Amino acid sequence: MNSILKDIETEVVKCMKCGNCQAVCPLYKENHSEAAVARGKIRLAEAVLNGEVDYTAGLAHRFDMCLTCLACVENCPCGVRVDKIILSLRAALTDNRGLPWPQRAALNALSRPKLMDKGVKTAGITQGLFFKRGGKGISPRFPIGLSTRRVLPSPARKTLKEQVAEKNAVSNPVMRVAFFAGCTTNYLYPEVGKALLEVLQKHGVEVIFPRAQHCCGTPVVIHGARDTAREMAISHVDMFSKVEADAIITVCGTCGEAFRQYYPELLSDIPDYSSKAQKLTDKTYDISEFFTDVLPLNKKLLGPVNESFTYHEPCHIGRGMGAAGKPEELLKLIPGAKYIPMKDPGRCCGGAGSFSFERPELSFSVLEHKLKDIKSTGANTVVTGCGSCRMQINDGLGQQNMHQNVIHTIEMLAKSVRNAG
Ligand code: SF4
Ligand code: SF4
Repeated sequence: MNSILKDIETEVVKCMKCGNCQAVCPLYKENHSEAAVARGKIRLAEAVLNGEVDYTAGLAHRFDMCLTCLACVENCPCGVRVDKIILSLRAALTDNRGLPWPQRAALNALSRPKLMDKGVKTAGITQGLFFKRGGKGISPRFPIGLSTRRVLPSPARKTLKEQVAEKNAVSNPVMRVAFFAGCTTNYLYPEVGKALLEVLQKHGVEVIFPRAQHCCGTPVVIHGARDTAREMAISHVDMFSKVEADAIITVCGTCGEAFRQYYPELLSDIPDYSSKAQKLTDKTYDISEFFTDVLPLNKKLLGPVNESFTYHEPCHIGRGMGAAGKPEELLKLIPGAKYIPMKDPGRCCGGAGSFSFERPELSFSVLEHKLKDIKSTGANTVVTGCGSCRMQINDGLGQQNMHQNVIHTIEMLAKSVRNAG
């Protein structure tokens, strides 16, 4: 048996095959395939553990068929860590079969920030050749492995790292935090990082933004490239352990989950790093948790925002970080802003990082439920807390000519802070 799979034996035996996971799996709702459901994948994992199934392309396909949305984990009466089983199987598959070279090259770039910086800058300069600009973003001029209907964000002219200093002091600080931005905030939505800085500084918080930070490594974990993911985890654990900070703040559930969960799991067999990673875990907060659990949002700093909005809860903030409801708690404090909840704010949008590029049709059919839910609220703005969800929802809104715009929770709070004068 592949040594990576040892850890999951205890999870696999917990499953009593009740099928509760079938009722909540967004992929099963679209394709009615048992292989999409947690129960089907656990059966397959059992067969792999028993040596009854080989690491074939078919097996890889079945384990790729997952949004890692954690809906099954949340609804499992036996507490099976389905995510752990799926990610371990993907790692064993990658170990045995390798990855196609374009994926290998892309994942490798994520661990090398200078290469990423150059790649994104080049993409920004040459985008006009391949993409045309529309109201909500850019779309391919011709099919380049992507449908011409897709609407994507344009790379930022200046990355967040080019716009924000390493040390952002305030007079009489009440606290000092380290900020982990993540790729979507650094390269696509730097305004999110600037909004975070603005709101934190107004609250008297000093912000350290370590310059050498890079991708959190979750896309690498998701694709089973465990050795690279471990290197990335070690690099961030070293970097953030050196910063004297009361908290680490993230603005994306995926990055938050990397610090909270993946780093301690990936480094559990390296004694020094295991305890260092755990220390970081204990002080990592999504920005919404920070303002609900650590330093209460100061209502006196909020001014009116006369907008109607709805909120999409990213899977990795709601279920992954266990922060469901906290962003709405803050947003509801904004004077003048009218919150119109969706029927199912925690339903996965279907983006799941690269899933929407690897399986665009299936991803879009999951997204369509979210778009209907948004439409039925009648709200003008969609607020969310994750760059990947923002890209996916904005893409859907653009493709269906819907008028709503998508912003991050912290941008909505920053608007309110600005309006207070
Ligand atoms: S809900 Fe849990 S116990 Fe039931 S089949 Fe799914 S994974 Fe197994
Ligand atoms: S994580 Fe989500 S997509 Fe994957 S099996 Fe569970 S419910 Fe289905």
